[in-house]
Amino acid sequence: MLIDTHCHLDLPIFDSDRQTILKRCQQLDIKKIVVPGIDAKGWKNLLKICHGEPSLYPALGLHPAFLQHHQLSDTHKLEQLIDQEKPIAVGEIGLDYYLKELDKTQQKSLFEAQLNIARHKHLPVLLHVRKAHDDVISILRRIRVTGGIVHAFNGSFQQARQYIDLDFKLGFGGALTYQRATRLRTLAEKLPLDSIVLETDAPDMVVSSHYGERNSPEYLKDCFNTLAEIRQEERSEIENKITNNVNSVFGFIH
Ligand SMILES: [Zn+2]
Repeated sequence: MLIDTHCHLDLPIFDSDRQTILKRCQQLDIKKIVVPGIDAKGWKNLLKICHGEPSLYPALGLHPAFLQHHQLSDTHKLEQLIDQEKPIAVGEIGLDYYLKELDKTQQKSLFEAQLNIARHKHLPVLLHVRKAHDDVISILRRIRVTGGIVHAFNGSFQQARQYIDLDFKLGFGGALTYQRATRLRTLAEKLPLDSIVLETDAPDMVVSSHYGERNSPEYLKDCFNTLAEIRQEERSEIENKITNNVNSVFGFIH
């Protein structure tokens, strides 16, 4: 069994064939898909889509890249909705310093507010981090949560170790399938297997075999195959371990 730990299957781009995709995922043994939230406006639809589908698991959060969409009152809504709907995580949340127009101080206060919510609700978090690993790590040391996943990890080996020490797993996806991604591939080879989880981030970050197309959770197998090639370990061993890794983050019962 494989689990897609990060997939925006709630987005309208999947409206016309979501059911077909889900059926194919079942056939491909992709049994669980985590669907992270982006902004307060989208939470309702996300929850509605996940409600009818036992393989979909919602997370709720305010994505840092959409800072301008968020309002101060959204974090209160988030708290209420977590109590009502019991999502499996708070996410996606984090810091994005790649987007220069976003105010760092505002980003940090939004991130910290959501970490505090996750801490009080005993929920793991799904992190979006671009060019901001050191700040995220220092904030995580101050506001301790029950772990989570650094989605689309692309930091250094040393930063990976620091996340692992904070009980985080590192998410690898479509970017790994490109031959030229040598730095990322070395990370996926050298990091302990019990720190790795897989994701597609669909509809973004498409795998190399579907370059130029919409990404889909169906292609998670490509990410798995690449990881297996890179690591040269028994495929069943890798599959079991990474599934256990996801279970340990979210407390899934098999
Ligand atoms: Zn995402």
